[in-house]
Amino acid sequence: MKKTYIVLLIITLTVLSCSQREGNQKLSNESPYAARIDSVMALMTLEEKIGQLNLPAAGDINTGLAQSTGIVAKIKEGKVGGLFNIRTAEKIRQTQQVAVEETRLGIPLIFGMDVIHGYKTLFPIPLGMSCVWDMDLVEQSARLAANEATADGIAWTFSPMVDVSRDPRWGRISEGSGEDTYLGSEIAKAMVRGYQGDDLTANNTMLSCVKHYALYGAPEAGRDYNTVDMSRIRMYNEYFPPYKAAVDAGVGSVMASFNEVDGVPATANKWLMTEVLRNQWGFDGFVVTDYTGINEMVDHGIGDTLTVAARALDAGIDMDMVSDALLDQTKNAIEQGLVTEAQVNQACRRILEAKFKLGLFDDPYKYCNLDRAKTEIFTTANRQKARETAAESIVLLKNEGKILPLNKSSKIALIGPLANNVENMAGTWSVAGDFTKSVSIMQGLKNAVGKNATIQYARGCNVVGDADLESRISIFGKPTYRDERSEAEMIGEAVRVARSSDVVVAVIGEASESSGESSSMSNIEIPENQRRMMEALLKTGKPIVAVVLAGRPLAMKWESENIPSILNVFFAGSEAGDAIADVLFGDVNPSGKLSVSIPQNTGQIPIYYNHKRTGRPLPEGQWFQKFKSNYLDVSNQPLYPFGYGLSYSDFEYGTLHLSATELTGNQTLTASMEVTNKGDLDGKEVVQLYIRDVVGSVTRPVKELKGFQKVLIKAGESKKVTFEITPEDLKFYNYELNYVWEPGAFEIMVGTNSEDLDIATINWSR
Ligand code: BGC
Repeated sequence: MKKTYIVLLIITLTVLSCSQREGNQKLSNESPYAARIDSVMALMTLEEKIGQLNLPAAGDINTGLAQSTGIVAKIKEGKVGGLFNIRTAEKIRQTQQVAVEETRLGIPLIFGMDVIHGYKTLFPIPLGMSCVWDMDLVEQSARLAANEATADGIAWTFSPMVDVSRDPRWGRISEGSGEDTYLGSEIAKAMVRGYQGDDLTANNTMLSCVKHYALYGAPEAGRDYNTVDMSRIRMYNEYFPPYKAAVDAGVGSVMASFNEVDGVPATANKWLMTEVLRNQWGFDGFVVTDYTGINEMVDHGIGDTLTVAARALDAGIDMDMVSDALLDQTKNAIEQGLVTEAQVNQACRRILEAKFKLGLFDDPYKYCNLDRAKTEIFTTANRQKARETAAESIVLLKNEGKILPLNKSSKIALIGPLANNVENMAGTWSVAGDFTKSVSIMQGLKNAVGKNATIQYARGCNVVGDADLESRISIFGKPTYRDERSEAEMIGEAVRVARSSDVVVAVIGEASESSGESSSMSNIEIPENQRRMMEALLKTGKPIVAVVLAGRPLAMKWESENIPSILNVFFAGSEAGDAIADVLFGDVNPSGKLSVSIPQNTGQIPIYYNHKRTGRPLPEGQWFQKFKSNYLDVSNQPLYPFGYGLSYSDFEYGTLHLSATELTGNQTLTASMEVTNKGDLDGKEVVQLYIRDVVGSVTRPVKELKGFQKVLIKAGESKKVTFEITPEDLKFYNYELNYVWEPGAFEIMVGTNSEDLDIATINWSR
């Protein structure tokens, strides 16, 4: 069979004429691999082409309900195009060998995995990464993840997840970049660049897959997989741009979302998959479904398996993850005239093209160098990078009385159900990680203080009072080690430990798998049993710092009103404990800024900074006014706004200076602001630019993020931060869905978060 492979390689070099090609003309004509794809396609039977569209799950990792069966037999029969959820370079090499040596044509497989926030070295969960506001760091994290994953055989990552979400009940808000379209788009580009690099044929870059296209982050009631319904103008202005940004950055593949879009499941939505994605945005890679996405359309109620398979292919799906529906139904669908052979050819070409782009036809084992697997994964240097990044993702919410940074020679009480837990540090969607190798907070503190300080530990309470809930969140090898002692006993111990210490570090919040897929919560407040523990600790009168571990913005109004110092940690990856200690002791001055608003309570959801205006806006600074848009029982404000985050330094903002007050056409406006570090420590500050379009032909948001810069300002120094603004920054999709800017007044705002801003107005005419 080896011979076949060699023959194939020779044939692929033969250039066939364009007239012989079928299928996607754009791809055939423009792809540099067109001739090689043609020569492979010319050898393939219809069954083999359909086989390329099939993506089973290998089962080493569990990310869905159904499991694929008979995989090796199917590979041998040419019925598999790629495989995912398979671990180790060695196993991948063996499996690739079956495809290359034991199939008729020897076409290599593409191996995928969810490399979401690192591979074995784990970075903060994406929500945490998005609080870093440093695109170089984001890109480097993806680069490093690609390096490790490719060293272990993986060619393709199901990342970035760029679903804008404004509903923290939805557990998968943890996997995205928060509520903002602009920040999310910048991160989408950086991640794609990081994974794919500028040469996909290298052995340490990988194909990226942007997901979940589209609108997956807006399920009704925050319940995962639930119905999504939104206007097209909102799709185009607020939810589509991050996917488009990934496409613009050259992402090689797109994953369809589970939800419906405009009444049709995304997987069968031709408008979405062909009109928007390919015709409007010019995407020329391939589209894969999500896990059993085709079969699930039977439950969506749009037809039987044959119908939904045909609709998926017809809509523009190229690869079927786990359903086996394209494998089983496509021939029948062609015979019945539901799809054409040309559509199969088109999908097959796109899969083959990705394999050519990755260089798999030249070397199917390019990612299976066992030496790399031994030396390039979870290295000290990688872990150091993850630690530094994690420290930058931590957001200081409060620091009353400047309890932080802590003194390394004090007596510290470390309290909380996850304070001495390793498995829950990395956060959700870390499928390749070895959780037992993460750094616990206890270990991180010990590493930082050495023999100088005493650290006394007490568990204090369980993660949640309800044992059934705790069993649902203690899965995937991430135990929370429920303590069967009575609540009074645990709190009593914690209070004793607190009393004999100088300062209390209380680790509260949620467990790793309280967020993530199928982990929605109807109540996002800190559990009551934890609150009771905190009340008892506060009564000791000791200074208290809360480290809040979370996969979503938790509503922590009571905590915020009562606990003097709070650090928000969106699960910080394998090095979490060291990174948290770095910030607690001031070895790192915190600089993270929220990428999502923290609500006061669950009922405020959805709450996000860039909301529209209403006809009855509440006057600025007011809590309630009859017949205005407000609540009786809670103010309209979030607990902490988007873009918020403190530092151990005090940054003072000057006055916003604009280069003009009137501009015409394609001129450039310069907005500048002087920021001074009044503190004693050097620190980084994220200076943020927002714009408000005062009058529009359609309603416009109160403000929108349009730029940011993270700058290091030394203690006592000032820095001038300058933004350049052009009409491109003023554009939006109008009622006709044309991307335009409309002349008129614009408020330019610069400041430290989405609420504390200095404002100046510019009139911009055509
Ligand atoms: C998730 C995807 C993931 C896929 C493969 C699905 O359940 O929705 O995000 O990439 O599984 O693991």
